[in-house]
Amino acid sequence: MDKKIIENIIEVLSTKKNIILVPHSSPDADALGSCLSLFHFFKNDHKVNIISPNNFTEILSFLPGSDNVIVYDFNKDISDTLFNQAEIIFTLDFNSLSRAKNVSYQISKSSAVKIMIDHHENPDDYANFMISDSNMSSTCEMVYDFISIINSNRINNDIATCLYTGIVADTGSFRFPSTTSKTLMIGSKLIDFGVNVSNIYEKLHNNFQFERLKLLGTTINNFKKIDGLPVLYSIITDIDQKTNNFKKGDSEGFVNFGLSVEGIICSVLFIEKKDEGLIKISFRSKNDFKVNIFASKYFNGGGHEYAAGGISKLSMDETEKKFITDIIQYLDVYEK
Ligand code: 5GP
Ligand code: MN
Repeated sequence: MDKKIIENIIEVLSTKKNIILVPHSSPDADALGSCLSLFHFFKNDHKVNIISPNNFTEILSFLPGSDNVIVYDFNKDISDTLFNQAEIIFTLDFNSLSRAKNVSYQISKSSAVKIMIDHHENPDDYANFMISDSNMSSTCEMVYDFISIINSNRINNDIATCLYTGIVADTGSFRFPSTTSKTLMIGSKLIDFGVNVSNIYEKLHNNFQFERLKLLGTTINNFKKIDGLPVLYSIITDIDQKTNNFKKGDSEGFVNFGLSVEGIICSVLFIEKKDEGLIKISFRSKNDFKVNIFASKYFNGGGHEYAAGGISKLSMDETEKKFITDIIQYLDVYEK
């Protein structure tokens, strides 16, 4: 982490400020964990609010302080007022304003000092201070470093719980290639602050409704193979969602099951989002197959090398056909 940047940020934070923390839309554990840990870190010295572009999964409501999150969709007037008063805006776990969806305009037009902390590739140039490192396992790992440099004595159980949750979620419990000895060392230090490891696992992974289990069954059943290619894909239709009382976050992690099959290096999940008029696509891969490049080239998306996302505005049938054509072409190039 660049000491000079941190020194400049410390200078900006030397007097009481109006701070807004913004996660990407549909925030996951890393996005919300980084916002909430900074919320707890700043709350005694500054006026700090978290504004999420839209709602987050109930699964994450166990995170300490989650009831302080202001959801822009439900509180536009209050949020706009807070954005007008903001002196510092942290954007956390994203590096392109488009990922802040309906608050991207509020961020871009604001005269506040903008601070990006993020671990995705190819950051956009909107922040005054950019802490961006795609080698990091998670934004929470970066926030741990950030907080440690500013004042490690301030880390308490609430901060540690939020950071640990983001790190385990983004590293698949310390098993993805982004996990380093430093990631594990931070995990170990956070446990020393009293983080309840098994409770966090239970809250993240064993806290779903019965219908979500049935939807997982449907998704696994829907997996298809493309002849001769090391690729599997599945589809969740709007009807599948209605049948199984779909709630935000229910399909999180489903795409990974495709990679459990021997020889498969790429797994893809298409989820119909009828209310948004599009299909959300999740890509996961391994063995040097860089799925973020594929996502950005063909499906207006991006992300990490082995975990990326994108969208399609075609029908599900057309999207499936386009995907098969694209992946055949892409793999042809990849194998050469
Ligand atoms: P997920 O499949 O869990 O929705 O997303 C996996 C990763 O892909 C996210 O952590 C994020 O980095 C990236 N991602 C997901 N959707 C999009 C998108 O629409 N655009 C871009 N640029 N990245 C995305
Ligand atoms: Mn992340």
